[in-house]
Amino acid sequence: MILKMVKCSICRQNRAFYFREYSGEKLCKKCFIDSIENKVRTTISKHRMFEIDDQISVAVSGGKDSVSLLHILSKIEANFPKTTLRAITVDEGIKGYRDEAVKIAAENCSQLGIEHFTVSFKELFGYTLDEIIEKTYREKITPCTYCGVLRRRALNIAAGKLGVSKIATAHTLDDEIQTFLLNIFHGDITRIARSSSVHHNATLNFVLRVKPLCEVMERESALYAYINCIPFQEMPCPYASEALRNDVRNTLNRLEERHPGAKYTIYRSMEKIQKAIETTVKGLPVKKCEKCGELTNADVCQTCQILQKLETL
Ligand code: SF4
Ligand SMILES: [Zn+2]
Ligand SMILES: [Zn+2]
Repeated sequence: MILKMVKCSICRQNRAFYFREYSGEKLCKKCFIDSIENKVRTTISKHRMFEIDDQISVAVSGGKDSVSLLHILSKIEANFPKTTLRAITVDEGIKGYRDEAVKIAAENCSQLGIEHFTVSFKELFGYTLDEIIEKTYREKITPCTYCGVLRRRALNIAAGKLGVSKIATAHTLDDEIQTFLLNIFHGDITRIARSSSVHHNATLNFVLRVKPLCEVMERESALYAYINCIPFQEMPCPYASEALRNDVRNTLNRLEERHPGAKYTIYRSMEKIQKAIETTVKGLPVKKCEKCGELTNADVCQTCQILQKLETL
């Protein structure tokens, strides 16, 4: 839609630059930025994500969502002097990709005066992701499966070392509904119940996870970074296209184009379903991994299963 000379629907003064199809609003840059920051503020308070004296670590990959989250939280937390905000970057070891992202994450942190810590798969697990993919090329498992499990553990280890009370991750509305549909695809009811947008897998993680961008669309989080001139890594991960998630993402984008608001409708349905089935996982026993002692719902946690398998290959 061409917005030449159309006034912003909120302030009614500035020229609109963005048409938000799902709400019908035409927004100027300032009102767009305010709307995103207010949406994050509302999400945080609606779900009581933070306490006044929280030690928060933001998981910053260097991509648009995580750097946008870092900038937004840094603005919000400036009003809460007892809260500390730090950033953790996990370097999975993806040549020609993650190296640049780590630099961009560091650049953003130094611009905002936020302490930045990096942990790598190589130092924690003995392998880079590239090495893992090379070793497991015969398996029918996508790189993202290994990456996701090991990244979660790496974040937990880093958070434990830093003594943080919350990890904020940059999962957007798109990420949340993609995961929901993937779990439906696999019939994984337990994961649907446990992947709440607020406390991700709270029963299986030592450090509570929160997702302050869970009601912000991915394309709006990118737009937020663009118009604020926030540096972020634009190159996609070389392994991303191999994932089923990528097809789900494209399907959802097409659906949203034809039916604006479809993503929010799915998100609201997801919330209702999660609420309806949360009691089904409450009674499930949580065990300690026989190898490493991490909380898990199997005898051996997924991280140890991966590491054991790599030793045999
Ligand atoms: S796309 Fe997959 S492999 Fe690449 S960083 Fe994300 S989870 Fe890891
Ligand atoms: Zn305006
Ligand atoms: Zn284990």
